[in-house]
Amino acid sequence: MIKNSLVRELEGLIGQTNVLIDEVDLYSYAYDAAVEKPVSPDIVLTPEKTDDLGKIISLLNEEKIPTIIRGAGTNLSGGTIPIKKGAVIVTTKLNRILEINCNDMYAVVEPGVVTAKFASVVDKNGLFYPPDPASQNVSTLGGNVSENAGGLRGLKYGVTKDYVMGMEFYDTMGNLIKTGSKTVKCATGLNLSALMVGSEGTLGVINKIILKLIPKPTFSKAMMVTYNDMLNASESVSAIISNKILPATLEFLDNFTIRAVEDYCKIGLPIDAATILLIEVDGNYEEAVEDEARKVMAICEKLNGSVKIANNIEEKNKLWEARRVALAALSRVKPTVILEDATVKRSVIPEMVKLVIDVSKKYNVLIGTFGHAGDGNLHPTILTDRRDSEEMKRVSKAIDEIFLKTIELDGTLSGEHGIGIAKSKYFKAEVGLSTVDFSNRLKQTFDPNNILNADKFLKVI
Ligand SMILES: Cc1cc2nc3c(=O)[nH]c(=O)nc-3n(C[C@H](O)[C@H](O)[C@H](O)COP(=O)(O)OP(=O)(O)OC[C@H]3O[C@@H](n4cnc5c(N)ncnc54)[C@H](O)[C@@H]3O)c2cc1C
Repeated sequence: MIKNSLVRELEGLIGQTNVLIDEVDLYSYAYDAAVEKPVSPDIVLTPEKTDDLGKIISLLNEEKIPTIIRGAGTNLSGGTIPIKKGAVIVTTKLNRILEINCNDMYAVVEPGVVTAKFASVVDKNGLFYPPDPASQNVSTLGGNVSENAGGLRGLKYGVTKDYVMGMEFYDTMGNLIKTGSKTVKCATGLNLSALMVGSEGTLGVINKIILKLIPKPTFSKAMMVTYNDMLNASESVSAIISNKILPATLEFLDNFTIRAVEDYCKIGLPIDAATILLIEVDGNYEEAVEDEARKVMAICEKLNGSVKIANNIEEKNKLWEARRVALAALSRVKPTVILEDATVKRSVIPEMVKLVIDVSKKYNVLIGTFGHAGDGNLHPTILTDRRDSEEMKRVSKAIDEIFLKTIELDGTLSGEHGIGIAKSKYFKAEVGLSTVDFSNRLKQTFDPNNILNADKFLKVI
């Protein structure tokens, strides 16, 4: 419970309308996009000035109030569920783009800026911000940094961590910590930005981010390749990359997902195909892009792929629609969707996809798989009904088997969605006990009262 005196103090600081304590309002912050049990917080704070973040966190820390920092709440790992109740600080009103510097190619933003809005403003300035999570129309840059979000362009352009040049954050005592710089190089002090990226709101409250921008590619060519054998598709992915071609995007859909998409939006997908690859190459020289596209085509055809090139923007949009709607299409099949994030080396994608199919049969659960084939980041998507407790037990066993196999194959629990509570039980299996202990000791140093997103994947005893 939050003391009345603290509520009054917070209202005095950020205004009464930015302090929510009514049960109905609080329930909106009880869950996120993960399939986990909702828990309502005791209080929600929606500050309008970044300076207030430091004052708020130090007040909450003095009273040892469990605290969650929340952007848009789209994370898929339970990272914003207030399992210990307490306070939720929402950053969506901290949404100013403070600077776009076209000469030095960087931007400075507040944490609540919506990803797609930022990318579009950058685009209007003739530059490019590549990280493009599928949730970009709602997700915030603070959330992207804290989850190290990726997207379709990860293979060629990297993920959020590759664009963070520096940041400011508040520690739990309310001290402002500055790390990194607006310069291309910076070797001053510890690289605390790197520690904050992917820290899932456990170490500090991000207040400002300096993001790298790059020149915009001018030409692109997209294609869809259909395969009757998953192995051929996977071999094509390896062959494209070993031929020194890095497509901007290299996505795949399995047969279950192809059927779900076609059923949803009737765009003429080959419903009997084992797999389709969606590939786009880009660059600044038309001839070079055409040349890469020809090479990709030849590689895929040699491996029994049937290639369909998008000849104009309409055809290209239609082709990408298949990937964009994949999750929505699968979501229509059953009421509950669990989007997983197992990531393996590209060379073992066929083994992993086969395991997912076997697990699906063994536990009699529906699983469609799509994802970023170019970086081995698979999204096995389990379609179920959380009200069916018997089925949920089978789902849980299926997920266990998928993650344990991922680790066995030298893969990783998360390519882009983070650990949160959803995957904390497997954390030790991947990194080992000493790494868990070391991470917990770091947490203890940053947050001695253990208030920030406590008892998720980091635990202070
Ligand atoms: C339909 C759908 C598609 C998705 N597609 C992708 C995808 O393609 N790629 C991908 O990587 N992810 C994807 N996601 C997951 C999710 O959108 C990302 O993790 C995103 O980065 C979360 O942003 P958010 O603003 O919603 O953050 P939230 O969910 O609000 O928070 C995420 C984490 O960041 C912390 N946090 C937020 N702001 C701050 C701050 N200012 N300071 C400190 N900590 C903070 C929170 O405590 C929490 O632990 C998808 C989710 C959905 C629902």
